[in-house]
Amino acid sequence: MKKNLNQKLINLIEYYNLINANLLISETPIKRNINKNIDSPGKTKSEKLESLKTSIKKIKNCELKKSAKNLVFGDGNIHAKIMIIGEGPGAQEDMEGKPFVGRAGQLLDKMLESINLNRKKVYISNVVNYRPPQNRRPTEEEIERYFPYLVSHVEIISPKILVLLGSTALNAIVGNEQVISKARGKWIKKEIGTTELLVIASFHPAFLMRQPEQKKFAWTDLKMIREKAKILKI
Ligand code: URA
Repeated sequence: MKKNLNQKLINLIEYYNLINANLLISETPIKRNINKNIDSPGKTKSEKLESLKTSIKKIKNCELKKSAKNLVFGDGNIHAKIMIIGEGPGAQEDMEGKPFVGRAGQLLDKMLESINLNRKKVYISNVVNYRPPQNRRPTEEEIERYFPYLVSHVEIISPKILVLLGSTALNAIVGNEQVISKARGKWIKKEIGTTELLVIASFHPAFLMRQPEQKKFAWTDLKMIREKAKILKI
């Protein structure tokens, strides 16, 4: 009887260890920000970005890394007040190690040009920093794994406007219940990490290439960004 009880107790302890009961009953929030030293005061923006890049390179157990050639971190002006987030690198981006340099990137450049913007005036990154094989959408697990790094990225760049291109970026930043066709073209005030900013979602250029009749909505969103930038004097 006593032996039985002891065994039950051992099983119970093992079970609680397994589910990490401390995490469940603890009142401290789950640590979502990865690395205090990335953002430590005294470092320049470039140094913080370098530290962030290094910690992304150290991510373990990530399937994406096995098939990707290069880390695709960011491109553009690190002091820009407009930051654009896409989904994840494609084949060309993977080869060059730069976001939005393939066909979707060429359309993005044209879209930016139409409102007098270019890569010297914006900063661009993605929800995940390695190419998903066959250009599939990143899984929930992959999005979650890269999310703290994305938050750090936004904190370091510290933009006033964040443009989310497509549903993956929208769902990662604003929430999974959001549908791009309904959520696009609306300003949302949001705190991302320690940064307070205005977020707007629009269609992803790759989607616009497949459905060019939707470009008129993207144009409406681009004009909203142009107007807001004017109002904010950025
Ligand atoms: N699509 C994206 O979402 N990001 C890129 O960098 C390229 C294509």
